[in-house]
Amino acid sequence: MVLDAQIKAQLEEYLKLLEGDIELKVSAGDDSVSRDMLALTDELTSMSPKITVKNAELKRTPSFSVNRPQEETGITFSGVPLGHEFTSLVLALLQVSGRPPKIDDTMVEQIKNISGEYHFETFVSLSCHNCPDVVQALNIMSVINPGITHTMIDGAAFKEEAEEKNVMAVPAVYLDGEFFSGGRITLEEIVAKISDGPSPEEFTNRDPYDVLVVGGGPAGASAAIYAARKGIRTGVVAERFGGQVLDTMTIENFISVKNTEGPKFAASLEEHVKDYDIDIMNLQRVKGLEKNDGMFELELDNGGVLKSKSAIISTGARWRQIGVPGEEEFKNKGVAYCPHCDGPLFEGKDVAVIGGGNSGVEAAIDLAGIVQNVTVLEFADELKADEVLQERLNSLPNVNVKTNAQTTEITGDENVNGITYIDRESGEEQHIALQGVFVQIGLVPNTEWLDADVETNRIGEIITNKQGSTNVPGLFAAGDVTDCPNNQIIISMGDGANASLGAFDYLIRN
Ligand SMILES: Cc1cc2nc3c(=O)[nH]c(=O)nc-3n(C[C@H](O)[C@H](O)[C@H](O)COP(=O)(O)OP(=O)(O)OC[C@H]3O[C@@H](n4cnc5c(N)ncnc54)[C@H](O)[C@@H]3O)c2cc1C
Repeated sequence: MVLDAQIKAQLEEYLKLLEGDIELKVSAGDDSVSRDMLALTDELTSMSPKITVKNAELKRTPSFSVNRPQEETGITFSGVPLGHEFTSLVLALLQVSGRPPKIDDTMVEQIKNISGEYHFETFVSLSCHNCPDVVQALNIMSVINPGITHTMIDGAAFKEEAEEKNVMAVPAVYLDGEFFSGGRITLEEIVAKISDGPSPEEFTNRDPYDVLVVGGGPAGASAAIYAARKGIRTGVVAERFGGQVLDTMTIENFISVKNTEGPKFAASLEEHVKDYDIDIMNLQRVKGLEKNDGMFELELDNGGVLKSKSAIISTGARWRQIGVPGEEEFKNKGVAYCPHCDGPLFEGKDVAVIGGGNSGVEAAIDLAGIVQNVTVLEFADELKADEVLQERLNSLPNVNVKTNAQTTEITGDENVNGITYIDRESGEEQHIALQGVFVQIGLVPNTEWLDADVETNRIGEIITNKQGSTNVPGLFAAGDVTDCPNNQIIISMGDGANASLGAFDYLIRN
């Protein structure tokens, strides 16, 4: 029995929701994974009379595809979809049986309208948190559009193939054999990548907005809701609705929500924004802003131009990356950027902080109260943090400081297990065994696209006053993109609300 009693009970309940018949086409050998897969498909048939099994020869063994009788739907699982992929299996069964996926009608139409053939394959691991979202998105596309197929491949069951393709991190999506994307990608992003997307005219022909928010993170979402509640014409244009929280696993400091996950939090943001009459233009990047005759004109990457009487910039920031091997691979698996947020996950463990400026030293002080041991690695020959911070750091018994240390690699297997650096004085390579690495070499505000008329500080953050106004009348800014000293969700949201009220005040006076 591959399913424990609790999962079996859950599955039995789900299978009662099947609408039509399902035929599983099974390709099995006599290896242990095949045996587990057959045990799973046998359990499924024993639990619902609507499910039948047929032997078949599929591209990979062990694999099974989920179909309607006499109709291939293009969804295949190679390996045994248990662990985090169990939900993907349940949803595939329900959707193939005829239950509509929970996505909006416009997205269904967009998927239906994709022409041509697309054969996706996704390498996953059964313990990966981000993989099911990607697998489920591609399965939905396969159910809706007969030209699209998708195979989930458990990298542990197909090690040789994963190695041959050099899959170092999951999920790794391939389209027609070519690498398509790595890491979490949403349904909207996949659809945008393979379809033409809206034409420039669709944006240019829109009526001007009263408030146009650029950026769909916590600051932008909050600004948009506050504007729409005033009954004025509001739009949000975002490269990736949700912003940084999409890359966050655990959020424990958003007051009133004890614990949540980033993608879930981002979904609630979007749901709340959609509750209002707000024009959401997701997956559109703004590349330029001009003010002509009192009207802001924002040019999009696709050439379209949006007009608005006022604008709120909330394009956020991104962590500056160290750019060494292991950083991308172990993100959220020991490589972290936010000590306030992720520090508690390293309780009792050994960690390193890369960066000896104010943020690095503050992070180390913060972490020293939680973790077993902190090593601060600074490239220069001395720490750059304020004296008072350094004194505090030096008074802590569980902190080591290594100056002249050039980080060269973050090592690990499933999770981080160490850091390698070169001692620039001796030239020797050193390795420290540890479980976490906090990269603290600063944040980069997303302001490269703004022209010089908007006043920014030395590091490119937009300077705002107490109303969230920039130096350009009618142009406001909020959240991580501004010179606000603290970058947190709750602060960005407050900032977004403030800027929106500032913009409303500007509109009634002009
Ligand atoms: C790994 C990680 C963990 C974190 N954990 C926590 C936590 O637990 N608690 C906490 O309070 N904070 C946490 N933070 C910080 C928090 O996520 C940020 O402070 C917050 O998201 C900032 O919100 P924002 O709206 O200002 O910017 P962002 O979230 O950065 O959103 C910016 C938005 O602008 C869009 N955008 C950027 N450029 C353009 C452009 N040119 N055109 C159109 N759109 C554009 C982006 O796509 C995005 O939609 C974490 C951050 C990270 C990276």
